[in-house]
Amino acid sequence: MSNPKNNNYYTNHPFMRNIGVLLIILLTPPSAIVFWYTSQNLNGSFMELFRFFVEHGFFSGIYQIWAPVFWGSKTAWTIIAIFVTVEIIFLKLLPGKTVYGPTTPKGYTPVYKNNGFLAFLLSVGLFWLLGFQLKVFNPAMIYDHFGEILGALNIFSWLFCIILYFKGIYRPTTPDSGSSGNPLFDYYWGTDLYPHIFGVNVKHFTNCRFGMMSWPLLILSFVAKQQELYGSVSDSMIVSVVLQLIYVSIFFFYESGYFNTMDIQEDRAGYYIVWGVMVWIPAVYTLTAHYLVKHPLHIGPVFSAVLIIAGILSFYNKTSMNRQRINVRKNNGNYKIWGHKAKIIRAEYVDDNGKKQESILLVDGWWGIARHFHYVGEVLGALCWSLPALFENFMPYFYVIYLTILLFHRAKRDDVKCRRKYGKYWDEYCKEVPYKVIPGIF
Ligand code: NDP
Repeated sequence: MSNPKNNNYYTNHPFMRNIGVLLIILLTPPSAIVFWYTSQNLNGSFMELFRFFVEHGFFSGIYQIWAPVFWGSKTAWTIIAIFVTVEIIFLKLLPGKTVYGPTTPKGYTPVYKNNGFLAFLLSVGLFWLLGFQLKVFNPAMIYDHFGEILGALNIFSWLFCIILYFKGIYRPTTPDSGSSGNPLFDYYWGTDLYPHIFGVNVKHFTNCRFGMMSWPLLILSFVAKQQELYGSVSDSMIVSVVLQLIYVSIFFFYESGYFNTMDIQEDRAGYYIVWGVMVWIPAVYTLTAHYLVKHPLHIGPVFSAVLIIAGILSFYNKTSMNRQRINVRKNNGNYKIWGHKAKIIRAEYVDDNGKKQESILLVDGWWGIARHFHYVGEVLGALCWSLPALFENFMPYFYVIYLTILLFHRAKRDDVKCRRKYGKYWDEYCKEVPYKVIPGIF
């Protein structure tokens, strides 16, 4: 079994490993609930939230917000159960080509069924048909029960992470597993890189088919709620939701590319990623659309068009950069980028089994501008779907600010990983492409 101390960034930082981890585990669940409450009941205003805490006291205020939704509700658990069941059926039964993830340091090659886009189309299509067209259920009901849903998801994720913790120690699915000797850190970071439960690849399900798939359904429910409240849907809501739907549809169109990212290759199935995708994505990534429900702002056709075009260009940047990396490696370096043969570094490294391996580092295209230039597109895209909320409150911008911090931290984390893995080849790449994210700045 591999010791996670050897292969991740956090464990080099004792503060992060102990106090930091504890703070994250304790603070993130109430934060998710408080954000929802502020958006729904306090006009999306952090000033009002501040006044609420001054009036009620901080801990008593948190209690008043969280207690009514802490255990979820029958409706919330039913919605979650139906969603989980449908998505597991889609994951297992929809047709799709077999694709392989990158081989792990211990020599395990994950196998996936590439049916994400079909699952996305069916999920959104069914929700639209049954909710909006046939009125089998009220599509706004998710908005109405969102606090309870988040309460239930918290409980579910905590328990699920405990199961994953023990499973990784006593019944790991692959050799890329094991304990660091620190139970708190293991719970947070996870003990198994690719756990499977009842034949379901846990991270494929939680990250893609739960977290990412919940996003379009939630924002469609928010659209339905605005329609119910005001009798129409504002152009600000349409622009924001359309951009988010495009973003999520691109994600599922290239779902197999996601299997090569750090979320899957590096992050074990622990609180950090599992709680993150099961609670933080539904609660925080959807915040702008949630805020817009009660703020039906009019932004006009010109601003709408500018945002849609800028958003699509941003998505193009990040998607095209991801594709360049995948394609150059798939074609063993024989790949043209922007009209010429791509410049690459053939980088050797030694895997955990002591075997010499070779990989390709692209020094061309987007990867020749900055080492994580796609993070610029990621952030600008999110900004484009936040700007329809204009500037009355800070809340609709919370996600994009959080994302910026996350990605800048991630760029550093990835550098640490790649330098450790590729050594002098990474230094060579950094010499050619000196900036992490923004040329000339960072
Ligand atoms: P990246 O796409 O940045 O990939 C990093 C990995 O790529 C490295 O670990 C290394 O892996 C490989 N690599 C590094 N440099 C090169 C190079 N020059 N040529 C070829 N391969 C290289 O990973 P992320 O997971 O951070 O991002 C993936 C996508 O997900 C991005 O589009 C990002 O914007 C998005 N994202 C979105 C988030 C959100 O919450 N909205 C959060 C995080 C990411 P190897 O070991 O294989 O060499």
